[in-house]
Amino acid sequence: MKATRPVLLFDLDGTLTDNSEGIIDGTRLGLAAVGIHQVSDDDVRAAIGPPLRSMFASWGLSTNDVGLAVAAYRAHYTEVGILMNRVYAGIPAALADLGATHRLAVATSKPEVFAIRILEHFDLAGHFDKIGGATIDGARETKASVVRHTLASLDIEATSAVMIGDRRHDIEGSRAEGVERSVGVSWGFGSAQELIDAGATTIVDSPEQLRSALSDEQFRPSTRSRQRLNTNLLAHE
Ligand SMILES: [Mg+2]
Repeated sequence: MKATRPVLLFDLDGTLTDNSEGIIDGTRLGLAAVGIHQVSDDDVRAAIGPPLRSMFASWGLSTNDVGLAVAAYRAHYTEVGILMNRVYAGIPAALADLGATHRLAVATSKPEVFAIRILEHFDLAGHFDKIGGATIDGARETKASVVRHTLASLDIEATSAVMIGDRRHDIEGSRAEGVERSVGVSWGFGSAQELIDAGATTIVDSPEQLRSALSDEQFRPSTRSRQRLNTNLLAHE
């Protein structure tokens, strides 16, 4: 009998790829569309991570203005911003390595169609059993709802999964869905402290550290899965 391979759920922006230039430009255009022109790059960077509507709402926009800002962002992003993107060094090797021992999936609050295009563009899509993302209409948008959708597509229990992300929303959203273990990555848009405060199991500073951290005992199949596995093995002896 084959052992259950743990499933790694990766966030996309700030975890696998650095799309900050495209996101910053799109955010500036979105804010300009509702009359906000004086925004520093630091302020924009600090806001990146939550779903787009929440991010614009954090500037105090009305629901109507959030809609206008999102439309302006998307008009730029779909054609130009999506390609202002790069894969973090060490990620392709880490995915190849981890894919031998784990099932890999993406759970991003970026629209699923964009996430698939980006990962196909960088020739990374083949590593993942599922690329889970938001819907364009915002019906599925929060990290929790994307994690739920991704776990359901894979037909796995939350206790078998480990979330890997760069913002507190990744850790909090997956915990809300019963994903007990998570790795916070410090190379993205969030700080290590933010990830610790959100309840990340551990923090890593490089893709190489991620590879070694995930071989640790605490990231093997959960105790409950192991017990069930042992029971099954005994039944077959
Ligand atoms: Mg992120």
